[in-house]
Amino acid sequence: MEILIVEDEQEIAAIIQECLEAEGFSCQVCHDGHSALRIFSEKQPDLIILDLRLPSLDGLEVCAQIRQQQVAHDPYILMLTSRGEEIDRIIGLSTGADDYYIKPFSPRELVARVRALLRRRLRECDRSQLLRTKSFTIDLEQHCVSCHLDRESPKNLDLSSSEFKLMTLFLKHPGRVWERGQLIEKLWGDDFFGEERVIDTHIARLRKKIEPYPSKPRFVKTVVGVGYKFEDS
Ligand code: CA
Repeated sequence: MEILIVEDEQEIAAIIQECLEAEGFSCQVCHDGHSALRIFSEKQPDLIILDLRLPSLDGLEVCAQIRQQQVAHDPYILMLTSRGEEIDRIIGLSTGADDYYIKPFSPRELVARVRALLRRRLRECDRSQLLRTKSFTIDLEQHCVSCHLDRESPKNLDLSSSEFKLMTLFLKHPGRVWERGQLIEKLWGDDFFGEERVIDTHIARLRKKIEPYPSKPRFVKTVVGVGYKFEDS
């Protein structure tokens, strides 16, 4: 779970970051709206803590632009405001913020809000049986894989059943090194008779579908003398 903190008052931003990191959350901080949009496209955080009053592009505008983007998973947005009366504006304009918080804040309470929102996110992931990495999402119920590379909008991949099984294994265990025999057993069980190298053909087909440059794989890497591993960082 990734959190983006957008707050132009650097001291406040640092306090929020400290509180959340102390609780084990992974945070990134920026101080203006344009950087927030850029980081959002690159990292697709799960939660954004967004100050309402920011220079050049304010929090409402940032929120609206984020909600317009097509992403695999909409982030939760927790809006920070310094005055109570602005809440009406936040809610009334239906900006797409999920929650708001009035400064000055108690760090403990803010952490509690963040936890509550992220718990919601985890429940959603459980319910829909989603597997996610930075560039891919698999919906196990719907049996579909989507790819969200860098700044491109997400697209669904048309995979064969073996390729789908491979992707599911890879996304469940990023970084794990698989021997060919292990992959074969996972894909076809004990019934398989034949050359272990057959898996290479399936990997090659999968790479053509998921890799921007299949001859220079970024995701499904060959581990010389062993087999393959999936990385998405
Ligand atoms: Ca501010």
